[in-house]
Amino acid sequence: MLPYYIDQSEEKLLGSGTPVNQHELRCGMCARELYVDDEGYRRYHEATDSGLDNPLRCDNCSDEYDDLAYEG
Ligand SMILES: [Zn+2]
Repeated sequence: MLPYYIDQSEEKLLGSGTPVNQHELRCGMCARELYVDDEGYRRYHEATDSGLDNPLRCDNCSDEYDDLAYEG
């Protein structure tokens, strides 16, 4: 039987106030809207400020990217 405290800790995480994903950006591959947290937002600007491509991937594209990475 599963202990109840797992449910309770999940509730705490969900109820801890401010949502983490706050920045609306675009996926670098399909340009779909996605929301990133502060770290993702910083990573995006680090890359684009350096003249690199948008490194962000939506769930869909990151799945495909993982598949490619395995073959590489
Ligand atoms: Zn995408």
